[in-house]
Amino acid sequence: MTFETLGLSTEILRAVADQGYSEPTPIQQQAIPLILQGRDLLASAQTGTGKTASFTLPLLHRLGSNRRPQRRSSSPRALILVPTRELAAQVGESVQAYGQYLPMRSAIVYGGVKIGPQIQKLRRGVDILIATPGRLLDHLGQGTVTLEQVEMLVLDEGDRMLDMGFLPDIRKILAQLPQTRQTMLFSATFSPAVKKLAADLLTDPVQVEVAPHNTAAETVEQLIHPVDRHRKRELLSHMIGYRNWGQVLVFTRTKHGANRLAEQLAKDGLKTEAIHGNKSQAARSRALAKFKQGAVQVLVATDIAARGLDIDHLPHVVNFELPMVPEDYVHRIGRTGRAGKAGQAISLVSPEEYTLLKGIERLLKRNLPKDVVPGYEPTTPLPAGVEMCSRKRSPHPRYRGNRDQGRGVTRPTRLPEGDLMRSSRSSVPVKPAKVPTPRFSGTDAARSSDKHMHSA
Ligand code: AMP
Repeated sequence: MTFETLGLSTEILRAVADQGYSEPTPIQQQAIPLILQGRDLLASAQTGTGKTASFTLPLLHRLGSNRRPQRRSSSPRALILVPTRELAAQVGESVQAYGQYLPMRSAIVYGGVKIGPQIQKLRRGVDILIATPGRLLDHLGQGTVTLEQVEMLVLDEGDRMLDMGFLPDIRKILAQLPQTRQTMLFSATFSPAVKKLAADLLTDPVQVEVAPHNTAAETVEQLIHPVDRHRKRELLSHMIGYRNWGQVLVFTRTKHGANRLAEQLAKDGLKTEAIHGNKSQAARSRALAKFKQGAVQVLVATDIAARGLDIDHLPHVVNFELPMVPEDYVHRIGRTGRAGKAGQAISLVSPEEYTLLKGIERLLKRNLPKDVVPGYEPTTPLPAGVEMCSRKRSPHPRYRGNRDQGRGVTRPTRLPEGDLMRSSRSSVPVKPAKVPTPRFSGTDAARSSDKHMHSA
């Protein structure tokens, strides 16, 4: 199937061609014709499937083909609600890119930045408004925008909005929207709360689904390294340095943990930045830009800060700590392996996290492959129910672990000489040429600083 067969306007097809997309992704193939027909939609699609274009392209087409006389209205014609500022910025970029040949104005409003420039932009009148709920309510309260002429409403990452406690805000916003409108709800997972929201929001919806619920992207190779908590940082530094990973996104559970880990990795000689909710929007955008350019090698993020991050070809995601909610694991690993590209998601799992791991495996309906790195064997053996299983697929080309483990074999991965410090007593790692070297000189120092991090 091609984009041409979907019935999109020539202006949109031109913009899509500019992006270099050759064919629509499965969610685009399913959702675009239905949205073009004017149907309400309930879509299950995780990040990385091309879901943003699946609603943005038909939305632009419908607004473009049903043009209103140019007027300065206080109300947009389409409203896209998203949970985070990062996602707002990204959806805004997509709207700009796909709508570049259409006479359409859009604005992005989110909190954490000055409201003045947003007000000025809204005053000039916009066709498409991309907003986070809280800041949109601020604008509605100040009368800088109304929603009376909204024809199309998109709720993106509905499950995340509910997780973040936005339901009351969403209800207030819905109360100001016209009853007659087209509504699309996108959500990676369908919890009972999401289903209830869908029932309240949508009229005679069509449901589309591109991946079975909660199934991690197939292109992502997933791997668990069981390791004691206090040795995770050391292992991570080595993996990054010695496997020469150019760009890696690392997840921690807390903001404090993100800061602490970023500081420690920086001390190990790795160019690292942290992004989380306590950082200003400007600082987060700066860190992300440096990461995308390659000036920063490691980006440490909390779940919320990482929502909506769109980084082309991100090859490695590391779970420094497993998330408390199994669904967040799926969101996290969705940062890599996007749009069909190979990616690798590694989780450093300490014995205290085995229960969380079991929850994730239950959700994924399969056991994840586990490799114990020599020299980093956890002191507590895996409990019953957390089964050792080795990788069945050939590993990512940049991953240089053992390639010949048989089914059910539980022996540890053997890394090539010089790849990783072989014993916790070694003080000077063997350094391959031109590879950043972790700077700490002994494991004891590393361990004691790890304690600080985990006591956070
Ligand atoms: P999303 O799921 O919307 O976050 O999109 C994931 C990534 O896929 C983005 O970087 C898009 O630019 C890219 N993408 C979207 N549609 C296509 C397509 N049809 N072909 C190739 N890449 C695409």
